[in-house]
Amino acid sequence: MTLTSCLIDTDALGHNIRALRALVGPGALLAPTVKSNAYGHGLGLASRAFLAAGADWLCVNAVNEAQILRDEGIVAPIYILGYVGLDEIEQAMALGCDAVIYNAETLEKAVSVHALTGLVARFHVKLETGNNRQGLREEEAMALAERIQASEGAELVGVASHFANVEDTTDHRFAEGQLARFAAFCRRLEARGISAPIKHMSNSAATILWPDRCQDMARAGVAAYGMWPSSETLVAAVLAGRRRLELRPALTWRCRIAQVKDVAAGEFIGYGCSFRTTHPTRMAILPVGYYDGYDRGLSNVAHVLIEGQRAPVLGRVCMNITMVDVTDIPGARLEGEAVLLGRSGEEVITAEQMAGWANTINYEVTTRINDRIPRVAVSGQGSGG
Ligand SMILES: *Cc1c(COP(=O)(O)O)cnc(C)c1O
Repeated sequence: MTLTSCLIDTDALGHNIRALRALVGPGALLAPTVKSNAYGHGLGLASRAFLAAGADWLCVNAVNEAQILRDEGIVAPIYILGYVGLDEIEQAMALGCDAVIYNAETLEKAVSVHALTGLVARFHVKLETGNNRQGLREEEAMALAERIQASEGAELVGVASHFANVEDTTDHRFAEGQLARFAAFCRRLEARGISAPIKHMSNSAATILWPDRCQDMARAGVAAYGMWPSSETLVAAVLAGRRRLELRPALTWRCRIAQVKDVAAGEFIGYGCSFRTTHPTRMAILPVGYYDGYDRGLSNVAHVLIEGQRAPVLGRVCMNITMVDVTDIPGARLEGEAVLLGRSGEEVITAEQMAGWANTINYEVTTRINDRIPRVAVSGQGSGG
């Protein structure tokens, strides 16, 4: 077994999909977002678990992710929500993927690919409603939608937008404005006789807070992995009197202890001599560092779990090595398990806690766990099925 691995509880992933399905009902397409190696959970592994639990579509960021899914035999509809390069459009069409569109050049390229190959492009026009990231202003989006509808070899499948701050606050007036602009645009499209059957702008927070306003498709990411988008979203859901949604985290990141040793009082530990022992200390050396995605901001503040007990990180997190205090954990031994993220016995370190220590968000904690670390599917852990 490798020194470091991530155990992925596929029962938990399935539970989260079923919980989201119960929210949105049978009418909306459930399209979990599996970009960034499925938020660190393993692209193919998580995708299969989601589909087995009833997800309808998968959302990826880029063509190469869609290629991996197709190569693994996944035939479910895939929506590419990030930019598709002009030289990648033919690949997206050949894979039968839907893609977001917000450039006329993308359409022109697709039409010429169609003329050469007969392949058809399936597009979702991205409307700018206030996030000012990807997307087109109303008039531009309308013009592009009309051009797609009139183009040989391109199909207008949907219209999409994206919220700016729905998870950042419990005051949702800005998000409401975005929703209203989106709805108004959809009505104008219809009035012009332009058909775009799949309308979607809900991320996890919107899916949780307004499950009846997910239009035709819910693009939930973080919640599908059992994490709340933010504490604000949790508070807003409770304030809204929503029956409490139970999400189950699915990822346990663990490694094997590389050395256990004693140091005297007054010794410095690690680069920069940023920690000094005040008493005789037993340390465990872990073969994990910031290269693996264990953030350097965790230096001197984080804990890991050994034998169900908290072992504080001592000194700086190195590129490939981290030192922890096991003075009070007699069971710590060479090759014993250390849990960096997840549960050990009665103790748990959540992505939210780690995010707090490292001044970031749970999304970044799990997505940055190095892709080279094996993801191992586990199920039947008796986590309450
Ligand atoms: C990442 C992403 C999502 C999913 O967001 P979560 O907050 O993880 O649910 C949805 N839509 C778009 C366009 C995204 O980029």
